[in-house]
Amino acid sequence: MQTIGILGGMSAASTQIYYRKMCELVRQRLGGLHSPELLIRSLDFANIEHLQASGKWDDAATLLNKEALALARGGADFIVLATNTMHKLADQMMSGVSIPLLHIADATAARILAAGLKAPGLMATAFTMEQAFYLDRLRAVKLQPVIPNDADRAEVHRIIYQELCQDVINPASRAVYENIAQRLADNGADCVILGCTEVGMLLNRDNVSVPVFDTTLIHCEAAVDKALGASV
Ligand code: GLU
Repeated sequence: MQTIGILGGMSAASTQIYYRKMCELVRQRLGGLHSPELLIRSLDFANIEHLQASGKWDDAATLLNKEALALARGGADFIVLATNTMHKLADQMMSGVSIPLLHIADATAARILAAGLKAPGLMATAFTMEQAFYLDRLRAVKLQPVIPNDADRAEVHRIIYQELCQDVINPASRAVYENIAQRLADNGADCVILGCTEVGMLLNRDNVSVPVFDTTLIHCEAAVDKALGASV
């Protein structure tokens, strides 16, 4: 089994989901006392959020690159960056790093295509919903992402940072997310990407009317497949 290097803490709320999910998957697949070989580097999200909000992306990239190099030195076979947003910096982060990155958007896009769907609604941080680094990655494989309107994007973003990343589950926010997911479906989305690693804390296949692609769960499954030598 390969060692998965998780670069997380972005936020800590979702990195806990990664750890639990990967443990569950390896136990299901190998049985008994098996568990994944992991290196988890969990950063202080307050520092990361400050760099994001102040537009200091180059500083954030330098920081992530240092951490990715350390995961490789520490014996990880590949890296899972446990946040969609920070994939904005994937190329800079992986500069000079000798092991590969398992890209969260690629793993998710592969699932959507395999399901025969093509117009995913995207619920994520404003960075992910509005910037080319993520949308173009989906468009490159012929997907046609549908993004929420201005007010809905602001609300999705606010709830991520003010609640979910602080481990706050608010029923009123769940209802807001359900309504936004429905508006995406009404606007032509044939499925919804939970494109932030915390959004699955509020949405899942049971409360969204179209198929749901939870990037956290898909990323974990792809990582475990890779670590165990199955095709992703
Ligand atoms: N975990 C989130 C994501 O998947 C947001 C936190 C961050 O900005 O890294 O995008």
